Amino acid sequence: MRLSGRIIRGIGGFYYVYTEHGIIECRARGKFRISNIVPIVGDNVDIDTENLKDGFIINIHNRKNELVRPPVSNVDQAIITFSIVNPALNRLQLDKMIILVELNGIHPVICINKIDLVTEDVFAPLYNLYKNLGYDVIATSKFDNIGIDKLKAMIIGKTSFFTGPSGVGKSSLINCIQGTNKQEIGDLSEKLLRGKHTTRNVELIPFENGYVLDTPGFTSLNLDIDETELKYYFRDFRNYELDCRFKSCLHINEPDCGVKIAVSNGLIDKIRYSNYLNLYNELKSNKRRRY
Ligand code: GDP
Ligand code: ZN
Repeated sequence: MRLSGRIIRGIGGFYYVYTEHGIIECRARGKFRISNIVPIVGDNVDIDTENLKDGFIINIHNRKNELVRPPVSNVDQAIITFSIVNPALNRLQLDKMIILVELNGIHPVICINKIDLVTEDVFAPLYNLYKNLGYDVIATSKFDNIGIDKLKAMIIGKTSFFTGPSGVGKSSLINCIQGTNKQEIGDLSEKLLRGKHTTRNVELIPFENGYVLDTPGFTSLNLDIDETELKYYFRDFRNYELDCRFKSCLHINEPDCGVKIAVSNGLIDKIRYSNYLNLYNELKSNKRRRY
């Protein structure tokens, strides 16, 4: 019988394909090795199975995108998670992460977690800043159960992963949204894993029509763009760069710069602008080191 499904886990040459008939343990047919395509978690595949327990992957559908660390394909969005305190929110890290996600063609969602630890006036300005820039932003707390339903709604029908510094609550949020679903999938996985002593890699957790990666993505933070292109990732500049004297203005030392005027008038957030300068210098010095 031919079925289609999604690889949600791969261990030592076995691929666990989530189908309408449950999880089926598959191996790849030889032709993938010949064509050098190795199936990875996230792949949409066609399989051949006789007994709905095990089978063979016979076709891999074209990938929409592919992350390297961790190796996973067909990702829709990244939940960029930061806690407002404990650890304190690092704005430079946040802006860098947003760019990294956008650079990979993945939709960013900004999640401000642990809001139970502060009053609203502490996180609201940040929330509004990014909201006004057109980003999807959610404020969450696992302890006060704030924003969890909204987070769940945002991941339905999509393939998402969490990213952000350690200790901000990513695992906690993954647990919250999994809820009862976790038990079911967990039990199934245990059964399938018995007797196979291989380190396990990333895994997609099926969730109400969507999937969530069980481990954080983008563990390394290298932006791979030319510093002169960085400005395009700061959407706050868009309206004001029309006023720059030079079309090629980098908004740093040029005269008559619409962006710098907007910063001094408070129309562009000062920290966003200083993060732009920081990242610009970082990219520039990385380049110098490379040559
Ligand atoms: P991760 O490293 O990003 O996966 O973070 P964890 O999920 O392991 O959480 C780190 C710590 O933050 C744990 O002690 C959690 O209990 C705590 N934590 C997670 N979410 C919240 C929250 O919404 N509010 C508060 N106050 N603490 C939280
Ligand atoms: Zn300018």
